[in-house]
Amino acid sequence: MMGKLWIVGLGPGAADLQAPRASAVLAAASDVVGYAAYVERVPPRCGQVRHASGNGDELARARHALGLAAAGRCVALVSSGDAGVFAMASTVLEAVESGDTAWRLLDIEIVPGISAMFAAAARIGAPLGHDFCAISLSDNLKPWDVVAQRLTAAVSAGFVIALYNPLSRARPWQLGAAFDLLRSLLPGATPVVFAAAVSTPGEKIEITTLEAADPRHADMSTLVLIGSAATRRIDRPDAPPWLYSPRRCAA
Ligand code: SAH
Repeated sequence: MMGKLWIVGLGPGAADLQAPRASAVLAAASDVVGYAAYVERVPPRCGQVRHASGNGDELARARHALGLAAAGRCVALVSSGDAGVFAMASTVLEAVESGDTAWRLLDIEIVPGISAMFAAAARIGAPLGHDFCAISLSDNLKPWDVVAQRLTAAVSAGFVIALYNPLSRARPWQLGAAFDLLRSLLPGATPVVFAAAVSTPGEKIEITTLEAADPRHADMSTLVLIGSAATRRIDRPDAPPWLYSPRRCAA
């Protein structure tokens, strides 16, 4: 008997930023599979089996979840933010494409969540109000040359840029290299935001400029936003500034 696989985005961290659909399928699942830090965010339920793993080998995790579903279990595979943004939904489909043809018949549902860029943007105003893009700075899955080429193309297209995975212990230099490249392409006054652990008790938001941006202020839980030439800053007395990108193109 075939089971079910839900690929669930848990949102950025706060329980009330998780979609009701995500909460419903987590309550219905017989098994929860995922990176340990994300599995911990799922309230334990009697009789539910939890399969927490390390951060590596995502394809093995996807195959494990598919195998459980094929054996008749109702599996929730969890990701942070949205399940399809630099997360497990594409890994599962990669496993389906290359794996057992029976997996193509599985009942798979992708449950969306609020991605870090939306949670971060909402804290500081509306920086994504005009055209924007998202780029992962991780060069584990793509060469750095491709990252640099895409940053350059994004700047020349006038996009606001949301940078995911800005750095980690194993990738300490990438954000500094990205800032160096961006400083050669954009004015020093371009707004830059470090939004860390948004919607969790450890949330920290810093609004600065490209000129002053210090890569040491980011960690694995930080989303970095780079404004475009159109992004505006509204200073306010005794409150952080608002940043927004006007919807009307000035050009
Ligand atoms: N699927 C996730 C992204 C996973 S990649 C999503 O849609 O949000 C992991 C990266 O997401 C982190 O390195 C960080 O850049 C970002 N991120 C995830 N949660 C975050 C949060 N609460 N606050 C800020 N950035 C976050």
